[in-house]
Amino acid sequence: MTARRLLLLGAPGAGKGTQAERLVNKLGIPQISTGDMLREAVAVGTEIGVKARDYMERGELVPDEVVIGVAEERLGRDDARAGFILDGFPRTVAQAHALDEMLERMGSGIERCVALVIDEAAVIERLLKRAEIEGRSDDNEETIRNRMRVYQEQTAPLVAYYRENGVLAEVDGMGGIDEVGKRIEEALGA
Ligand code: ADP
Repeated sequence: MTARRLLLLGAPGAGKGTQAERLVNKLGIPQISTGDMLREAVAVGTEIGVKARDYMERGELVPDEVVIGVAEERLGRDDARAGFILDGFPRTVAQAHALDEMLERMGSGIERCVALVIDEAAVIERLLKRAEIEGRSDDNEETIRNRMRVYQEQTAPLVAYYRENGVLAEVDGMGGIDEVGKRIEEALGA
């Protein structure tokens, strides 16, 4: 059986978004990216966007209560009932606890957490390349370094959290998109 309530974990630039999209096509379940949702909120200028903008520009995490609200609303929509691929959420231990609680209320839980393992130099190179292509305003060198530091401090502890929960699969994130994608499928039993 393929796991369908999935979480992708990895440093900024590890390829979470790319691999999430691949899984959307393969499994027919939605990708839930708090980064995409927050960027949209900033672009539209919603109340959440106004709250999130400065943190994002600096490469800091948006406060837990803001992001948890965004994720909960999205996970409650009909299309997430059959499964989902979380990309960029949770990013703190507090968010992971909140996620467990909300899924428990829905009578489910995370079935598999795929942690993409890559080296930091490769990540920074990827992010600088993406900055050129997409022109994201948080993709300059200083912010990238800050995002890496924030990841190490606040998000990396989640690897141990999901290992303890018995759902962790560590996957080598180095290599081509399809190569990494196949490793992920294997880890999911897809
Ligand atoms: P990255 O490639 O850096 O992982 P994302 O698109 O996932 O990019 O996130 C971009 C920014 O959005 C983050 O640097 C952060 O400011 C904010 N953000 C996204 N998800 C979260 C989250 N779960 N908690 C706090 N902040 C978040």
